[in-house]
Amino acid sequence: MGKCMEGSVQKLMAVGNLEREEFAEFLRFRNIETTEYLYEKACEIRRRVKKDRIQVWGRIPISSFCKYDCKMCGIRRDNRFAKRYRMEMGLIMECCREFAGKGVRSFLLESGDDAYYTQQRVEEIVKTIQEEYPDSRIILSLGEKTAEAYKSWFDAGVSSYILRHGSANEIHFRRLFPSNMSLLLRKQCLWQLKEIGYKAGTGFLVGIPYQSIDNVLEDMQFMKSFEASIVDVGAFVPARHTEFERERSGNGDMALYLMAVFRLMLPQAEIIASPTLDCVLKEGRTKAFLAGADVVVVDLAEAAVMESYNVYERKNGRFALPLDNLEEMITQIESMGLSVW
Ligand code: SF4
Repeated sequence: MGKCMEGSVQKLMAVGNLEREEFAEFLRFRNIETTEYLYEKACEIRRRVKKDRIQVWGRIPISSFCKYDCKMCGIRRDNRFAKRYRMEMGLIMECCREFAGKGVRSFLLESGDDAYYTQQRVEEIVKTIQEEYPDSRIILSLGEKTAEAYKSWFDAGVSSYILRHGSANEIHFRRLFPSNMSLLLRKQCLWQLKEIGYKAGTGFLVGIPYQSIDNVLEDMQFMKSFEASIVDVGAFVPARHTEFERERSGNGDMALYLMAVFRLMLPQAEIIASPTLDCVLKEGRTKAFLAGADVVVVDLAEAAVMESYNVYERKNGRFALPLDNLEEMITQIESMGLSVW
């Protein structure tokens, strides 16, 4: 039995933050009593702010090329075992249709940092999707681009952009990312996105090598001061043919705990339950709804494509990760007293 840190939860609800020492304790001495109370409050806030509605985002991984060589990533530039592909318009539209056929109208277009997707090409993709699905929401996660490109895609109708900062601590960042990557540049991109008017999302991976509680706190404070509109906090899952392939996966329960804390820190934010959670925790995404998440990312794209898009290793985690059965997932969400939109 642990002591419920009720006071800290209430303070988080009231002021959206904690003093450094108290926050460190709150993360370090996580226990069942505090977790249950925290989740209860996170769900209470989601009910109040989001009316308990869960959004489903269909993920379309449009390219597995990347100019960077990040240490944790299966599609990093120098991984000669990674299968490379780029989706042409026809396949992207097929994926949209597959999702739309199941009632999903939010499309998350993801890729490595691939120069092939120029301002013009992405604009074309966005316009084509919107012609066929004028009521759709398009979320992009295509890496670091110019302010001009971001602006043109926003003007074309894209509302949201996700760019994980990775680690807000320069020293930790250096241990994870290659020397030609810059934390400052990623932060600049994020501020540009926000200034343009995007719902800008960012995040990090829980349990990534060399991560300390201090690092996590720094990440959370950065996301709070940035007022992230989308919180993308996943659990680290080792990918094959990377420097970290023999490392342990991140702790799924800790990832959920942080999601619940974010619900208290940034009540309006869209908090994502991504498929990686299911690699480290049985029914991880479903459990994330109990911790206040309000977005679920689903994979339906053809198995061949998903296999190539090994940013993380779908089968290397504790649980094999089949492609999603959307009907089953919606039934599960509704059985929890939540609604899907
Ligand atoms: S983490 Fe992102 S930027 Fe780094 S190699 Fe992977 S896709 Fe590229």
